[in-house]
Amino acid sequence: MNSSKSPSQSSPRIEVSNLNKVYFTPNERLEVLKGLNLSVDPGEMIAVIGQSGSGKSTLLHILGTLDRPTSGSVHFGECDLFKLNAKGLAYFRRSSVGFLFQFHNLLPEFSALENVMMPQRILGTYVDDQIGMELLTWVGLGKRYSHRPGELSGGEQQRVAIARALINRPQLVLADEPTGNLDSQTGSRVFDLFQKIQREKKHTSILVTHNAKIASRCDRVLRLENGTIQTTNKPYV
Ligand code: ADP
Ligand code: MG
Repeated sequence: MNSSKSPSQSSPRIEVSNLNKVYFTPNERLEVLKGLNLSVDPGEMIAVIGQSGSGKSTLLHILGTLDRPTSGSVHFGECDLFKLNAKGLAYFRRSSVGFLFQFHNLLPEFSALENVMMPQRILGTYVDDQIGMELLTWVGLGKRYSHRPGELSGGEQQRVAIARALINRPQLVLADEPTGNLDSQTGSRVFDLFQKIQREKKHTSILVTHNAKIASRCDRVLRLENGTIQTTNKPYV
């Protein structure tokens, strides 16, 4: 795994092979992902669409190693992720992946800057508030660094969450409906920023969205259906 922290670090190719995920509930065996294959080029920005319950979040959680597949593999460059032990997985997750969720999950009692810095504190290798300030400035909130989430608008909170997702210079950014909770104009501005940063940092992004306009602006759109991925042209949703 390339955990180099130089600004020009390149993202490795991601290869997902024959991924299966089964949930067992008291009443049923739910096959959510069924032999899913996917190759992601370094620096690609991919939109994942599909009906509610089609397994989009499940796929994102597995790619970010927040959850394990029932079978199948995910290679991140040379690294076969689910062969790592718990410590290796935690390090991968903290150092190489940035997460962005629909609900920003900012900690209410901490300032914007403290929230942005949280993943760096958890990783524990070094903490540099200056990088957090730069990211906050980049997302247009340099003057709001001391505000708590409750003192920011929804769009501003999501921009803080973008800065937080990027603080450890991840090679992969996973975003689960990051604009789903915002009005369309604010959502579109947040996506503009997300895409601008992606173009500059050149990390790989995989983004779940219900927004056809946003999906159409990604490099590739994948539709999740019947547990596998169908490459899709229009209509996107
Ligand atoms: P999406 O994000 O596309 O809406 P999800 O990946 O969240 O879909 O869920 C896919 C299916 O798996 C849904 O039917 C959901 O109810 C089910 N599911 C998700 N997580 C669990 C779980 N932990 N246990 C049982 N079923 C689950
Ligand atoms: Mg979901």
